[in-house]
Amino acid sequence: MTQLIDTFGRVHRDIRVSLTDRCNLRCTYCMPHDFAAWMPSDELLTTDELMRILSIGIELGIDEVRLTGGEPLLRPDIVDIVARINALPNPPKLSLTTNGLRLAALAQPLKDAGLERVNVSLDTLSPQRFKEMTFRDRFDDVLKGLKAARDADLTPIKINTVLMPGVNDDEAVALVKWSLDEGFRLRFIEQMPLDAGGVWDRKTMVTADDIFHSLNPVFSLSPVPTRGSAPAEEFYINGGPETVGIIASVTRPFCGACDRLRLTADGQLRSCLFATKEMDLRGVLRDEAMSDDQKTAEIEMRFGKTVLSKLPGHGINDPSFIQPDRPMSAIGG
Ligand code: SAM
Ligand code: SF4
Repeated sequence: MTQLIDTFGRVHRDIRVSLTDRCNLRCTYCMPHDFAAWMPSDELLTTDELMRILSIGIELGIDEVRLTGGEPLLRPDIVDIVARINALPNPPKLSLTTNGLRLAALAQPLKDAGLERVNVSLDTLSPQRFKEMTFRDRFDDVLKGLKAARDADLTPIKINTVLMPGVNDDEAVALVKWSLDEGFRLRFIEQMPLDAGGVWDRKTMVTADDIFHSLNPVFSLSPVPTRGSAPAEEFYINGGPETVGIIASVTRPFCGACDRLRLTADGQLRSCLFATKEMDLRGVLRDEAMSDDQKTAEIEMRFGKTVLSKLPGHGINDPSFIQPDRPMSAIGG
């Protein structure tokens, strides 16, 4: 098995796959409420194309796949996609990040198709605030989705929370307590400059330190020693075993241990959320002048080139940092 090793010795084993850039929420830190610049549907990878790319990636050493978006549960054949990934030779570990709105209906079918676990995004415990933050009155649907995910044993269920200053940063403690009561693992994600509306502001963003200082008076937090390539710094709560995570992509970047690649819904391979270049895999698959073997060889080469082009870090903190052209919903978070 060829390994995807970059020039800094990082071995790439994990791919985040965006299944669609569309979404049924409009989280303010992700996209404007009137966002409409969707990818044309004929530019999205078909499920056959996706399977071809994933099977090549697995041959090259990928052993973990996270399905995301946009909202991955809007992909009409999501259950079939999960089943087909599980049926690949050497199937990878498979998880999914979702806003939870369609989980009530899909949790059990997804489990039956072989999904191991889910991450569900939830930024507030207030239905009214949820509506203000997402432009949709769907808080109860997320709770129903979470219950269905627990009933279907899509565990451990991780909750992703982005705190915004003056919006929901007063809920850090309440969200941790709620997660403990419900048996979920909460991770706070620092807001990143990846929104389609340009609302990110370094000067006012809620940092990992801010979050730590909100939690520290209420909980005793001690670092969990083994982090590996995981983006979250985990802390035992009151001695453990329960934990809370903080993904401090901006203020404490973890690029040195990053083992992730990203595949956009329109078939572009990226070495990083913040990469400014992409490798077109869809174009290779649709090139009628190439034989099947040539396509495989070309895609393998493009995987290798993408990994070799990976920079040591994302550079958010460099003065020359340029926000990627595509928002998180298009790249796949
Ligand atoms: N729609 C799904 C969801 O919300 O879980 C999956 C895609 S979403 C892009 C994946 C994760 O990215 C979510 O947890 C969301 O909170 C996070 N996210 C989106 N925009 C972000 C930003 N600008 N900074 C940090 N996290 C962001
Ligand atoms: Fe949709 Fe997820 Fe972006 Fe919210 S964070 S708008 S749920 S893609």
